[in-house]
Amino acid sequence: MSICVVGHSNPDTDSVAAAISFANFLKAQGKDAKACMQSDAASLNPESKTVLARFGLAAPEQISDAAGKDLALVDFSDLGQAPANIKEANVVAVVDHHKIGDLTTNEPIYFNAQPVGCTCTVLNEMYKNSGIAIPKDIAGIMLAAILSDTVNYKSPTCTDADKAACDDLAAIAGVTDKDELFMEMLKAKSAVAGVPIKDLIFRDYKDFDMNGNKVGCGQLELAALDQVADMRDDLYKGLQEVKADGRHTVLLMLTDVVKEGTDLMFVSDDPGLVEGAFGSKLDGNSMWIDGMMSRKKQTVPVLQKAFGC
Ligand code: MG
Ligand code: MG
Ligand code: MG
Repeated sequence: MSICVVGHSNPDTDSVAAAISFANFLKAQGKDAKACMQSDAASLNPESKTVLARFGLAAPEQISDAAGKDLALVDFSDLGQAPANIKEANVVAVVDHHKIGDLTTNEPIYFNAQPVGCTCTVLNEMYKNSGIAIPKDIAGIMLAAILSDTVNYKSPTCTDADKAACDDLAAIAGVTDKDELFMEMLKAKSAVAGVPIKDLIFRDYKDFDMNGNKVGCGQLELAALDQVADMRDDLYKGLQEVKADGRHTVLLMLTDVVKEGTDLMFVSDDPGLVEGAFGSKLDGNSMWIDGMMSRKKQTVPVLQKAFGC
C-alpha cells in the first residue's frame, strides 16, 4: 500500500511542497509513496498555485478520509488539522517544525521535528544526510516554501538553518534572485481586488480566549499598504460586524512585508488597552507598529499580557 504524505488542513505552500518533497524522498528510498493534500486543486490557495505552476509541478491528489491508509504527516502533528478518521489510519512518519501535537501511535515511527522556520528546511537536511539528490523542480518549491514560511527571512521564526537551506535549494533550482521569487508569491498571496471583505478578514484569522474575553486577529500580508487603500472603510466596517458577534476586540494586521511593519486596525471595547499594549496611539482606525510581522510571536503574546492572561 502506498504511503500518503499529507500536510495540514487548509494547506499552505509548506504543506504542499513538503508533501511532494517527502513523497519523493521515500520513493528514492525504495518505498511506495505519493503526495496528497487536504484540498482539491481548484481550491488551493493562490500562492501555492503560483509556485506549482512556476516550477512545473502538479498539485498533489486530494485526500479527505484517512481510514485504513498508511500516512506520513508533514508540517503538523495536531489531530485537529488531520484528514477525517486519522485515528483509523496508520501513521508511519512525521516531519515538522511546530510544537508537538496530540498525535499518538501504537508503534515506533520516524519522527523529525526541529525548531526551524519551515518543514522544507528539515527535509533539505534529510536529503543531504541520506545522499539523495533533490530534483530541480522539487528544490524550487521547497525554496518557495521556506521563503513563504519565513516571510523572506523577515519573520522572527527564521533561523540560520533556513537561510542555509535556501542557498542549497536555490543553487539546485537555478533560482538566482530569491527576492523576485518571493515578490511573485507575495503578489499572488496578497491579491485583494474583487475579494469579498469578509474573505479578506478571515483569509488568515484566529480567535483567542484572553482572560474570558474573545479576541479575534486576522492578518493580511501585503507588498504595500496602498493595496488596501480603497477598502479601508469597508474593512473597518467588516471588523465592527465581526466584533458585534460576541467579541471584546477584533484586530486586522495589515502587514507591509517590504517596510517590515504592520498597520494594526482594530475595534475594541477598550481601545486604550490595545493602544497601551503596543505603546502606540490610534491614528484614525489603525496604528503603525514598526517591526510587527508575526501574529504568533509579536501580536498575541503582547495582547495576552495586556488582558492579564
Ligand atoms: Mg503550514
Ligand atoms: Mg510550515
Ligand atoms: Mg504561514
